[in-house]
Amino acid sequence: MASDVNAVYRRLPSVAEVLELDEVDGLRGLGSRELIAESARSVLALLRDRVRVGELDAEALDECLAGIAELVRQQLAERTRPQLRRVVNATGVILQTNLGRAPLSEAAIARIAEVARGYCNLEFDVEAGARSRRDVLVEDLILRVLGVTEEGGRYAAAVVNNCAAATFLALNTMAEGGEVIVSRGELVEIGGGFRIPEILSKSGAVLREVGTTNKTRVSDYAAAIGPATRLILRVHRSNFEIRGFTEQPSMEELISLGREAGVPVFDDQGTGCLVDLAEVGLPGEASWSRSVRSGAALVACSGDKLLGGPQCGILLGSAAAVQRTRANPLFRALRVDKLTYAALEATLQAYLVGREGDLPVVAMLRMPAEAVRVRCRRWVEALQSERLQAEVVETRSVVGGGTTPGASLPSFAVALRCAGLSDDALARRLRGSRPAVVGRASEGRVLLDLRTVAEADDEELIGVVRGALDAS
Ligand SMILES: *Cc1c(COP(=O)(O)O)cnc(C)c1O
Repeated sequence: MASDVNAVYRRLPSVAEVLELDEVDGLRGLGSRELIAESARSVLALLRDRVRVGELDAEALDECLAGIAELVRQQLAERTRPQLRRVVNATGVILQTNLGRAPLSEAAIARIAEVARGYCNLEFDVEAGARSRRDVLVEDLILRVLGVTEEGGRYAAAVVNNCAAATFLALNTMAEGGEVIVSRGELVEIGGGFRIPEILSKSGAVLREVGTTNKTRVSDYAAAIGPATRLILRVHRSNFEIRGFTEQPSMEELISLGREAGVPVFDDQGTGCLVDLAEVGLPGEASWSRSVRSGAALVACSGDKLLGGPQCGILLGSAAAVQRTRANPLFRALRVDKLTYAALEATLQAYLVGREGDLPVVAMLRMPAEAVRVRCRRWVEALQSERLQAEVVETRSVVGGGTTPGASLPSFAVALRCAGLSDDALARRLRGSRPAVVGRASEGRVLLDLRTVAEADDEELIGVVRGALDAS
């Protein structure tokens, strides 16, 4: 037996022999010499393993060797495929931070492509032929979309890398060396280790906690104001709820307290929400425009949450406060690139011209459950087979990504059950397809909520799902 195996081993070519094959040499356009050699080595190692365990006899091995160039090509493709790649989000979580949050609109994608292809006026005043600043590019547009342009130049806006950066920059600019008053109910962790007390400490400000976890009154803030106070900080509770015996002053109350005491208020609003969420059945959500209009000195929000644009952080507020953040040397370290500006501008323009429904995030929010159900039915008809049991089930989609905690939208999902596969195994199989399909494993089934799947991809994805389950 051992000598049989040895005889089969001897049929295996050397790496050098594989590399000399014309078809393998023809792969040179697809990878470097080193990568091709590495791929050939790994194909040979795999074949050797299969021979060792008795999976390949001489005849079967010869068959594999006849197609060895294709095996090398596959290994090479594996080694050169992008690490960052498309994933189908069938979780029903609209803003999934792990899956890249907001998908961009076609207009934003087109603007990115246009700006990326060549040069642009990022810091150049084309008319004057002189240097200009990148951070003024979208400022007017932001103010216009928020409806705060007519107020005698009182407002200004600046863009940085994300909302975490915006918050850090605001705290460092406004309160370094002084005290910041925060309610104990808002000393939160946003996610990814972004904790308000730690960020405050890194910004060089001293945290002055007031109130309790569930109740903080405006009088608690008032009692804490002293000569060292630089800022009142309000943090939107993006990812949790406090229910029951609770109290929290309104923004308006905080701002009027701040006015009396000469202390500015900074609102870490987070979501950047401009659409009316009550309209889609999510009442009581903080809106970005309301926060801005409340009179806070500065408001920070994300570009890639409910605004539906690229990752960035927007600081909007009084011209004087925004000016100070721009003058902070950290501003340069937190700035965004031309691609972000291109996508942000296109995103904001959609709101300006009343076409915010073109933004995928807004479209998903507004999509009626019935429309999701119709698509689920099509999937079920196409997928149903002897092995695969598919049915339409009711489910709830959530907004996610640190917005609207606890709230959900009625939706529908394709529930898949596959003979001989646990829900986890089925979910793994779907994640292993190209593109990876990410659903929710639940009670022996995998649910695919189609609210977060682009309808234009339906045909393709039905094929992908079928392929993933046939290959068993
Ligand atoms: C999401 C969020 C942040 C962090 O925003 P990023 O853009 O992810 O940096 C900060 N504050 C609040 C209130 C948030 O909701």
